Amino acid sequence: MTELEFNNNTDVSNSVTHYVEVLIPLALPRNYTWKVPVEMLHLVQPGGRVEVILGRNKKYAGIVKRLHTNKPAAFEPKEILNVLDDAPIVFSQQLDFWEWMAHYYLCSEGEVMQAALPTHFKLSSETVLLFNDEAGDDFSHLDDEEFLVAEALSIRKELRLAEVQQLLDVSHVYPVIKRLLEKNICLVWEELKHTYKEKKETFVLLHPKYMQEEALAELMNTWGKAPKQLELLLAYLHLSKTEGQVTQPELLKKSGASAAQLKGLVEKGVLLTEKRSVDRLQQLPKEISINFQLTAVQELALEQVKKHLEQKQVCLLHGITSSGKTLVYIRMMEDAIRQGKQVLYMLPEIALTAQVIRRLQLYFGGYIVIYHSRFNPNERVELWNKVKSGEAKIVLGARSSLFLPFRNLGLVICDEEHDPSFKQQDPAPRYNARDAAIYLASLFRAKVLLGSATPSLESYYNAMQGKYGLVEMTQRFGDIALPEIELVDTKNIRTADKSKPIITPALQQAVEDCLTRSKQVILFQNRRGYSPYQVCQSCGWIPHCKNCDVSLTFHKLQNKLVCHYCGTTYPPVTVCEACGNHHFTQQNFGTERIEEALQEIFPKARIARMDMDAVKGKHAHDALIQLFEQHRIDILVGTQMVVKGLDFEHVALVGILDADAILGFADFRVNERGFQLMEQVSGRAGRKGEQGKVLIQVRNTSHPVLQFVRAHDYQAFVQTELQNRQQFGYPPFSRMIQLTFKHKLQETVVAAARQMADWMKPAFGHYLIGPAAPVVNRVRNQYIMELMIKLPKDLHLLQQCKDQVHLLTAHLHQQQPFKSVVVIPDIDPL
Ligand code: ADP
Ligand code: ZN
Ligand code: ZN
Repeated sequence: MTELEFNNNTDVSNSVTHYVEVLIPLALPRNYTWKVPVEMLHLVQPGGRVEVILGRNKKYAGIVKRLHTNKPAAFEPKEILNVLDDAPIVFSQQLDFWEWMAHYYLCSEGEVMQAALPTHFKLSSETVLLFNDEAGDDFSHLDDEEFLVAEALSIRKELRLAEVQQLLDVSHVYPVIKRLLEKNICLVWEELKHTYKEKKETFVLLHPKYMQEEALAELMNTWGKAPKQLELLLAYLHLSKTEGQVTQPELLKKSGASAAQLKGLVEKGVLLTEKRSVDRLQQLPKEISINFQLTAVQELALEQVKKHLEQKQVCLLHGITSSGKTLVYIRMMEDAIRQGKQVLYMLPEIALTAQVIRRLQLYFGGYIVIYHSRFNPNERVELWNKVKSGEAKIVLGARSSLFLPFRNLGLVICDEEHDPSFKQQDPAPRYNARDAAIYLASLFRAKVLLGSATPSLESYYNAMQGKYGLVEMTQRFGDIALPEIELVDTKNIRTADKSKPIITPALQQAVEDCLTRSKQVILFQNRRGYSPYQVCQSCGWIPHCKNCDVSLTFHKLQNKLVCHYCGTTYPPVTVCEACGNHHFTQQNFGTERIEEALQEIFPKARIARMDMDAVKGKHAHDALIQLFEQHRIDILVGTQMVVKGLDFEHVALVGILDADAILGFADFRVNERGFQLMEQVSGRAGRKGEQGKVLIQVRNTSHPVLQFVRAHDYQAFVQTELQNRQQFGYPPFSRMIQLTFKHKLQETVVAAARQMADWMKPAFGHYLIGPAAPVVNRVRNQYIMELMIKLPKDLHLLQQCKDQVHLLTAHLHQQQPFKSVVVIPDIDPL
């Protein structure tokens, strides 16, 4: 294993002038160079931050990428002002990773750095500091300069860095701020994240003196009166064994005890209660306790995975839903951390639920840390440092956890590897976390395990070609059969207003059956809101957003029309703007409408909705999952959110309400997405006990994807779909680059896109598709054009094309009319 500390620079000769290449968290066309004053030379190190001036007077904390002695020929560099860190905040692997990402995804290293670093590490003249109210007013431990700033902050509550400069000797500002941040006196304001509220819950713990088994046995053997308290204690011990952490409400509910009884035990010094953040796990003991046995099938899969990974860097685990992939991951992770390596376990953000966290924490306790976008800045820094020091062994996170400063990564697990949300859309870097993880792992010679019940065609093709190892698990745990799938033809079902039926008689019957048997139901619709649009009954006019070229969705609860592209809301229309008619019908239906229909049909059932409107924030999502888990909800209606990797015991029926909407997109990936979505939703049915059932409501019953879903035949699906892709030259048989052009004038954006295409034609004419306006060709008052480039698989050609795009974009921006056209390259778009 490589040693990751950087060489310190004690041996460099002081007589030659030294320079540093510094990364600044901005979209700059290239990296800039500064001169190192002799007296700072021994302090400068790659991965550490320095304070520099950019332009006339903008200051930044940048990261040193490289220390060298090559004087730039064209200009005289300025000197760095301060060295901020005595230890690097990232290792060489991260710097290499950033460089690769910028090159591969056509953005600047500064943009990657911007995405990678927690806000607290990114200081600039624009930074706004906030006083941390939790810091109190005892500043006696601060030095004079720190005190000055702290006092000003405690009075003013916030200060710009530029204002701090008026308080202090200019040359000291950044180091002082850095120390105040480390001492938690202040925070850096973050525009998007300032609504974060940590969720606290009361946890129950065993008093440390009873952690020893003998002490506990002694206590129970000599238990006097209060049998109820003893019962409560036993319930606690049971829960802590099965769940890891025990919350007070959960304990009281499961034990049937009262709060007073719990208080009694706390007063006796047997149990403790503690308010803590639900996401924080550091109090758990650092120990591994794997208390399950793999089945023979799983054991074989594990052996095969290990074997492949001896030869190959990447292995794909294709295991049907509920085959126990998580257990195979757990055993792989165990191996890695026993060898002293770190593990990154990546999941799509929505799948990162308390359910998954609890499950893993049961086995790995305090070795696990969690990273997601809803952490506050302090927590992010804390976590950053834990990963850097190696204290955190397993990081469970969404795509951005790739950027954490791992020091000896040994294994990356990418669960639900097919999931489109691994792709970052906006802003740059527009990376695919699955693909980037493979590169990151290679920098550490680490192994990668991709897992899914419905692998992406890219990964499966790579596995078929022998580039990745391939292991398949085709049996559900407990040998439960995959759910039976039935198509409900909606073509001939008439509703009163001739709209699409929401809940067909067949589905209604099936739901009723479930409810009488005390089973749970999940209904899936890929559309939120009440009805996707209102349509004028006489002329067909549909209200559109004023800023975007899309129709508006009616949300009944808010009684508003909402644009799902820009978020603008409008009052519902009562008069047609085209013909003056007063009558509108609602066409199609979203989750809100389904919920309403269900309430009418099943007035006694407990119904809940899970979508972006009903579930704001991670905790609401988790709370709903928990309610459903505890069977306090009978029917769950939801969008994508209900699909992701959840494991419920009592779901006997899944309904897919409008498969035509899933299969109707004009995109070459539509079949793949449709298959994945339907197979994954189906996978939530009948995971424990009896076989589940899935009803799919659809008009186009002969759509080929439906036949594959019905048979749960991934292989046949892949064979057919790969043939299609090959015939039309789509990935995985080609590589795509998408260029998006945006401008507020339509003529300008069209002309710019055409100009670009013309310039590309000589070398890449064969491979261009478009330019063309996308289906939604105006968003937030900007017109949009797209140019697709579909290249044969040839790394050299791909590189050539990226270079051209880079060059020609700069060229385009030099043309007067196109100066302000935004050009966004997207490599391997989804
Ligand atoms: P997948 O991720 O493949 O969909 P999971 O790992 O969630 O499947 O497993 C499905 C369910 O079966 C889980 O509740 C899991 O705890 C249980 N399970 C799977 N394998 C075993 C095993 N070997 N021992 C005990 N429980 C298992
Ligand atoms: Zn009309
Ligand atoms: Zn809009």
